[in-house]
Amino acid sequence: SNKVNILGVRVDSVTMDEAVSRVEAYMDQRAGVMIATANAEMIMRATKDAELMQILNEAALVVPDGAGTVWAAHHLGYAMPERVAGYDMAQRLMADAPSHHRRIFFFGSAPGVAEKAKIKAEHLYPGIEIVGVRNGFFSAQDEPEILAQIRDARPDLLLAALGVPKQEKWLYRHLQELGVPVSIGVGGTLDVMAG
Ligand code: UDP
Repeated sequence: SNKVNILGVRVDSVTMDEAVSRVEAYMDQRAGVMIATANAEMIMRATKDAELMQILNEAALVVPDGAGTVWAAHHLGYAMPERVAGYDMAQRLMADAPSHHRRIFFFGSAPGVAEKAKIKAEHLYPGIEIVGVRNGFFSAQDEPEILAQIRDARPDLLLAALGVPKQEKWLYRHLQELGVPVSIGVGGTLDVMAG
């Protein structure tokens, strides 16, 4: 798809339907990619954080999350069909998961939140397989155990809710050893689901 350069961050000009199709294809291919949801705050942060900028520009897909990103694209004279919010994209992927037999892992948020989000997902999307949960507060010495937990759960989709830029940096650093087809940084999504 077309990439739109917003302050150095190359954002994909995609609709929600196109974004979801791309993610489904990456899962089918077992691609091992990461996807970012770029709101105005993340783009501004990337202008001051070269590592985040590089990670975003290497991501397989960067969706335009938020009215600010869509506005910026239009202001620069580019087509950008609609806002693709990370929360909404995660819900679409979860809604499709039972029929596509996708295994999903929830990683992040305070202790207990991912468990509540799992119960909510199982209620909203009957048949969904949330194959593991793990809170997002850990030290470096906990990381081997977390990596093993995620690997052993063999998810097709890893939703990482550690906040920006921690989730992007963590996913980028561990992409190879995780061996997960698709990982997405989803910010406050698990908090919202847990209510
Ligand atoms: N979080 C976490 N580990 C941390 C710091 C934050 O799991 O070390 C979680 C936090 O509990 C919250 C999410 O990351 O669920 C960040 O949510 P926020 O809405 O702030 O996301 P952002 O605006 O950064 O995308």
